[in-house]
Amino acid sequence: MNDCLFCKIRDGEIKSEKLYEDDMMFIIKDIAPSAKIHYLAIPKVHYKLLKDMTPQDTIDLGKCFFRIAELSDSLGLSNGFRIVINQGEDGNQTVFHLHIHILGGEKMSNKSVF
Ligand code: AMP
Ligand code: ZN
Repeated sequence: MNDCLFCKIRDGEIKSEKLYEDDMMFIIKDIAPSAKIHYLAIPKVHYKLLKDMTPQDTIDLGKCFFRIAELSDSLGLSNGFRIVINQGEDGNQTVFHLHIHILGGEKMSNKSVF
């Protein structure tokens, strides 16, 4: 995907510190944090939306969640965290490369999602 911000970050065409990287995904800090801690876990394969994934693809997405849980203490999230995946217009998705928001470092409100 030539014009995709997260593909460009994945490929190093746009500089961003990768806090974690494996064959499936990488984690960066959100440039405009909505909580004291706000990371983005970005699967390396470009999917625009969850609905573009096959059941097989979702196995890798599940592994991303597993990895996030494994890394949570080292990411400063030992007291808990919130995961959000925005989808489409009403989800207020702005970057159309599927990504997982990881929010924490403070008690999250249930009034606004973030
Ligand atoms: P969404 O609105 O769910 O598509 O999330 C996109 C997120 O990407 C927003 O929270 C932005 O603040 C974040 N973002 C945009 N550009 C960058 C960037 N260059 N580096 C890190 N995060 C970014
Ligand atoms: Zn992409």
